[in-house]
Amino acid sequence: MIRLNDVRVGEEQEQFVLAVLRSGNIAQGSFVETLEREFATRHGVAHAVAVSNGTLALVAALQALHIGPGAEVITSPFSFVATLSAILSVGATARFADIGRDFNIDPGRIESLINSRTRAIMPVHLYGQMAEMDSISAIARGAGLDIIEDAAQAVGARYRGRSAGSFGVGCFSFYATKNLSTGEGGMVTTNDETVADRLRLLRNHGMRRRYEYVMPGHNYRLTDTAAALGIPVLRQIDQLSEARRRNAMEILQRLRGVNGLLLPVVHPDRDHVFHQLTFRLTEEAGVSRDEFIESLHAQGVEAAVYYPAPLPTLECFDGDPRVCLDPIPQAMRAAREVVSLPVHQYLTPLDVDQIVESVHKVLAHE
Ligand SMILES: *Cc1c(COP(=O)(O)O)cnc(C)c1O
Repeated sequence: MIRLNDVRVGEEQEQFVLAVLRSGNIAQGSFVETLEREFATRHGVAHAVAVSNGTLALVAALQALHIGPGAEVITSPFSFVATLSAILSVGATARFADIGRDFNIDPGRIESLINSRTRAIMPVHLYGQMAEMDSISAIARGAGLDIIEDAAQAVGARYRGRSAGSFGVGCFSFYATKNLSTGEGGMVTTNDETVADRLRLLRNHGMRRRYEYVMPGHNYRLTDTAAALGIPVLRQIDQLSEARRRNAMEILQRLRGVNGLLLPVVHPDRDHVFHQLTFRLTEEAGVSRDEFIESLHAQGVEAAVYYPAPLPTLECFDGDPRVCLDPIPQAMRAAREVVSLPVHQYLTPLDVDQIVESVHKVLAHE
């Protein structure tokens, strides 16, 4: 079976982890510091603060910007649930601007949602392609709003030469299946010294020096063991992204013109890092999405739906007044039609052939 996610731990990672274990310092230490320093350099930002996971990266970013009860955050309705739960967990209210053809928040839908309570825009760089950041930055600047990037799927991605996480406060995830993985882990990036200071305090019990508490905080720390897994991957992240991009471009090229498949929009001015390779399956396909996925499985190709329902329609948020039911027809449609295929860096040319041929077969109803 060609899997959607293939997690492999290399020799260098083993060596780094072993060095941590032998050092006896297995909590946050020098490996976390190294990961932070190199992550900041790679993403062109002044500060990178490591945290326990991507969800807490979003929570810490909101807290560092003093966003809480009464504040509204405008985000994408088409994302992983953590985007919304982070907003709710600080007590803020979520508003949803519909998405565009690239699956990301449509800047043209943002302005009508802005009011006196709005504090931030939280674009999600879905599947590894960055949102339209020039327009979003202009809107934020004009209205005096903060930008929090949910860059959980976009480690190493760029928009017109500028890295994800450098347009506002950037939130990254190092979960097992993400492009850069430490098992669990996350990172917050910023160019603002004050925000970076608050992030470091929040992460460590609000403590500046031993038992000197300057604010109420939490424990959001990352371990050196986790950081050790991430450092060698970060050093190769551009080559890994390039391998994903090559696979994606080859598959897209060979599926062009197939009836029932709507290929994704890949903007030439953005370095898409293809966390996922996601298509739309339209009615012309002549098979349901479930049947399509099942037939691919039968041919040894794993496929899956990211994500089957827009965030504000999830039942667990029913009736929550802080989850606004803004109109999101494009997100509704995407949730019905999207399907993702394997694109990871370990695919062989034979795997790519098998993926392409399987899709052709299913849609030719052979
Ligand atoms: C993975 C992910 C998160 C959450 O990250 P965790 O490390 O799993 O907590 C948030 N937003 C998006 C878009 C994600 O894909």
